[in-house]
Amino acid sequence: CGVMAVYGHPEAARMTYWGLYSLQHRGQESGGIATSNGEDIIDVKGMGLVSEIFTDDVLQKLPGQMAIGHTRYSTTGDSALLNAQPIRVESTKGLIAIAHNGNLVNLGTAKERLERDGAVFQTTSDTEIIVQLIAHSAETTLVDCIADSLSQVDGAFSIVMMTRNRIFAARDPRGFRPLCMGRIPGVDGKPDTFVFASETCALDLLHAKYERDVQPGELVMVSEDGVTSRYFNTTTKQASCIFEHVYFARPDSKVFGRWVQKSREEMGRQLARESAVEADLVVPVPDSGVTAAIGYSAESGIPFNFGLIRNHYVGRTFIEPTQRVRDFGVRMKLNPSRALLEGKRIILIDDSIIRGTTSRKIVRMCRAAGAKEVHMRISCPPTISPCFYGVDTPSTKELIAANNTIEEIRQFIEADSLAYLSLGGVLKACGAYEPHGNSFCTACYTGNYPTQWVDVDEILPAVA
Ligand code: 5GP
Ligand code: SF4
Ligand code: MG
Repeated sequence: CGVMAVYGHPEAARMTYWGLYSLQHRGQESGGIATSNGEDIIDVKGMGLVSEIFTDDVLQKLPGQMAIGHTRYSTTGDSALLNAQPIRVESTKGLIAIAHNGNLVNLGTAKERLERDGAVFQTTSDTEIIVQLIAHSAETTLVDCIADSLSQVDGAFSIVMMTRNRIFAARDPRGFRPLCMGRIPGVDGKPDTFVFASETCALDLLHAKYERDVQPGELVMVSEDGVTSRYFNTTTKQASCIFEHVYFARPDSKVFGRWVQKSREEMGRQLARESAVEADLVVPVPDSGVTAAIGYSAESGIPFNFGLIRNHYVGRTFIEPTQRVRDFGVRMKLNPSRALLEGKRIILIDDSIIRGTTSRKIVRMCRAAGAKEVHMRISCPPTISPCFYGVDTPSTKELIAANNTIEEIRQFIEADSLAYLSLGGVLKACGAYEPHGNSFCTACYTGNYPTQWVDVDEILPAVA
């Protein structure tokens, strides 16, 4: 998911809309914006792309100087408008709207406790737990109640929250998902506008200057008194999602203080060092494989070209929830360029193999277009475990690398050779070994989850 917040701008809804537009790659299922005019919080949510939901007419209905927004990619909770965000709740602590990127993992215990205390849940999304915990907190001030709530939940949460007159932004103590803060200088002596966004690419569009990341375990508050910050947890070790650098974030974003572009290009270079192969052409699987392929080509000296052409009017295929849509989506989305591939030995670069079905279609496509040899190179290690922290990986039984050797996967996707980047290689590419480098979650490649609690039902999926 993508989240946005704007404080102190006469066109807060429109600014949020533009920000969400830049964060559309983080979720295409539904979108929403909530604004506050100081008295009431109004929200509009819909299914589909932000540009489809927020026409000029709709934006007119969202007055106020403060706004938060969300673009959703369903992981937990049903895929429905009911679970679109921001969620607006009239609680015992007043009106609160919240937008959340990530997944909470200890829902069972927290939810039971709240229900015993009389909480009635309005949605099936995990996000509502945070609001219910705020409402049921025994602390006196709102900011204490929020800190209290956040210290009781476990898992991944980069959240923005809004009351009638304040904006809050917070990240879970491991810093799984990104969240940054920017500032637009006020003109004519007007106060500055504060912006929070999942990725810095959303700040760029608003001409907001990147100030800093919201830190893991930090709760930032913006009110008429300015910006204040406190930590609700300082003891948990950082475990930022490495997959943000591998695939999820845009390459023009700075995520966890590091350019994604730089990480991805280095992944490609490292992949070329680890798994060289003789070939005529390096071909990315667009868009997710492009930056790594540039790195691979630069390091290997093998020319790069767009041997697969992407139809830009088709979104991220895997975000479509059903297999049928996904299958058809591949051919709609990618078409090989015979002029480039005919008679060539090619190296196909992609970011991941999840089920293997897309990759097989792409390999077949390239051969049908005349490629003589197809060598597949993947810019991260084999995906062997599902994610419980906000990325929609399928269950273990559907993950091809959880159930097959690399040689078996190579046969399945019908490639001449197949190699993945090593775990050490991807960590190095993301700067993990540099001074002040990030500590990363790599659980989808190792099965070592940084939280104690994961959803056991999902690890051992019920046959459905
Ligand atoms: P596959 O060969 O596993 O079907 O598809 C691999 C390609 O689709 C990669 O480009 C990857 O980015 C994307 N992909 C397909 N399915 C998923 C999925 O369920 N989760 C993620 N994260 N990526 C997927
Ligand atoms: Fe990211 Fe993988 Fe960890 Fe999920 S399991 S947070 S996708 S690194
Ligand atoms: Mg892809």
